[in-house]
Amino acid sequence: MSFSITLPDGSKKDFEESLTIADLAHNIATSLGKAAVAGKVNGELKPLDYKLDSDSEVAIITNKDEEGLDVLRATAAFVFEAVAKCEYPELRLGEHVADEGGFYVDTDKDDQIKVGELPKLEKAMQKVIKNGEKIEHVQIAKSELEDLYKNDKFKSELLAKVEGDTVDAYKLGDFVDFGFDALLPNTGKIKQFKLLSVAGAYWLGKSSSPMLQRIFGTAFFKEADLKADLKRRQEIKERDHRTIGRDLDLFFVDPKVGAGLPYWMPKGATIRRVVERYIIDREVADGYQHVYTPVLMNLDAYKTSGHWAHYRDDMFPPMDMGDGEMLELRPMNCPSHIQIFKHHIRSYRDLPLRVAELGMMHRYEKSGALSGLQRVREMTLNDGHTFVALDQVQTEFAKILKLIMDVYKDFDITDYYFRLSYRDPKNTDKYFANDEMWEKSQKMLKGAMDDLGLDYVEAEGEAAFYGPKLDIQTKTALGNDETMSTIQLDFMLPDRFGLTYVGKDGEEHRPVMIHRGIVGTMERFIAYLTEIYKGAFPTWLAPVQAEIIPVNNEAHGEYAEKVRAELAKRGFRVEVDDRNEKMGYKIRESQTQKVPYTLVLGDEEMKSGKVNVRCYGTDEEISKSLDDFINEIDADVKSYSRE
Ligand code: ATP
Ligand code: ZN
Repeated sequence: MSFSITLPDGSKKDFEESLTIADLAHNIATSLGKAAVAGKVNGELKPLDYKLDSDSEVAIITNKDEEGLDVLRATAAFVFEAVAKCEYPELRLGEHVADEGGFYVDTDKDDQIKVGELPKLEKAMQKVIKNGEKIEHVQIAKSELEDLYKNDKFKSELLAKVEGDTVDAYKLGDFVDFGFDALLPNTGKIKQFKLLSVAGAYWLGKSSSPMLQRIFGTAFFKEADLKADLKRRQEIKERDHRTIGRDLDLFFVDPKVGAGLPYWMPKGATIRRVVERYIIDREVADGYQHVYTPVLMNLDAYKTSGHWAHYRDDMFPPMDMGDGEMLELRPMNCPSHIQIFKHHIRSYRDLPLRVAELGMMHRYEKSGALSGLQRVREMTLNDGHTFVALDQVQTEFAKILKLIMDVYKDFDITDYYFRLSYRDPKNTDKYFANDEMWEKSQKMLKGAMDDLGLDYVEAEGEAAFYGPKLDIQTKTALGNDETMSTIQLDFMLPDRFGLTYVGKDGEEHRPVMIHRGIVGTMERFIAYLTEIYKGAFPTWLAPVQAEIIPVNNEAHGEYAEKVRAELAKRGFRVEVDDRNEKMGYKIRESQTQKVPYTLVLGDEEMKSGKVNVRCYGTDEEISKSLDDFINEIDADVKSYSRE
């Protein structure tokens, strides 16, 4: 026998006898032998004991490689399974996954594993790891495994998908599992790991299947890496709008009453109302005319618009009213605003005509994509359509962009970038077919951005079906890019709906339509604000701006009410916490609820007509007259910058 192994640097090594990946690593260098955790043979991940006996390309995977981490995490997942199965013999095991995010194992038993049980399981894992137990790589007859898993319907289902009579499996003591590319040969190599959390997950991701408990964990070769990862996870958790939304009681989404259909609790609704009023005022000042239009529309309008042909997958099915009328829940507001344009004869003097609405719309997003308020199925878009003459496009575009950037300044949004979204030239079916129009409008958008001297990235395949757009991209706490604001050029819909205006020349002309969302949907925007502020909303947005705490309800309740009424009269959002709780507890709670100002009122304050003020995030208390406090909070509310 003679064969040669090609290494990643192109060098070749010839061998007369078969050898394992571990042997090969040692053969190359002792240090490599020590660091090796697996190998890649002709592009496939294989364990260290894999036998090499023919010509092949081999890369040694070490503890420094990304894939080395995957092997470590898969091993940790396997050890978790073994330990959990030992702890709960009736446990059924589903899928296991290890990747750059860590690892998870799906589990099921009558009394599901709870997060409180993780420390106990972690301890049991530590014991197995400390003992450095051997993990045996074995080939087992499929029939033997079928027998072993006869009481585990999930494993049996996975096993049924494995081809052949023997199964590539791993053993730790009596525990056996399969479905791993490569595991470490010894539990002692798992140096740093952590079980993180538990969450419900449908079997194989199908919502019609049973819900299993997914146990998440992670593992690293180095302690410092694990520590940094845990810190990062903690920061994400602290910023995640879903966690904050629950802790501050802002909103909830309950799949049992409707996945992706959010309920805004009073505090969340207050933030939303402030944002809505703010944006309407800004738009009206910028020449927009605000309207209200229905969420339901005759399906024919969406056939005319092209939504039915190009956007149907994202739409709720139409409602057949039984008398020939088909109604559709709108996925976009454009056809509605077109009706507003068409309602009167328009002349060049009406242009630009800026129609705006906080328009509620429904999109049938995939259930797996739904996330808190970030991606929902019912949303209210800060929508607007401006109808312009062709020679007004550039000026109007710049005006809208300026509005967006000014608004971002007010909300202190700084971490964003511009993306020009074009159609995908290889997949033109998805888009309105008119090459000339696409060329023209894409060039126009790019030209406008270049004239403004702004940096942008270009992305093919991100355009709307009716035209290219400028998207303003932000990052969520989980690190995903999301579109917040958007400006879209559209030559198609005016054509489809036969829109015209009478020009200076007395002739009919076709307007161009610009679709735009300034803050985007209320849902996504408030999710974003919650994350950037970590729930500590600036005073102008905070649902409760000042919390009043009487030192003693009996003695100081009346004064507290007087202060409250005085502040409320001036439009501030204030609450008195008169529950029968200790003062210290109430102050702490006001801090955890991230209320900007906490006013503690006792004898001293009552006598002198003062208030004792603590600002969120500081321990300092300052006593001042109520008038001084009113001036302070008033200035604070008005302090968001506006040029
Ligand atoms: P995405 O690519 O995020 O699905 P889109 O390109 O379909 O969005 P547009 O039709 O441009 O989005 O919608 C306008 C705005 O509505 C987006 O900028 C975004 O802020 C918001 N938005 C879109 N889909 C959702 C959703 N499912 N949940 C919350 N907000 C959304
Ligand atoms: Zn539109």
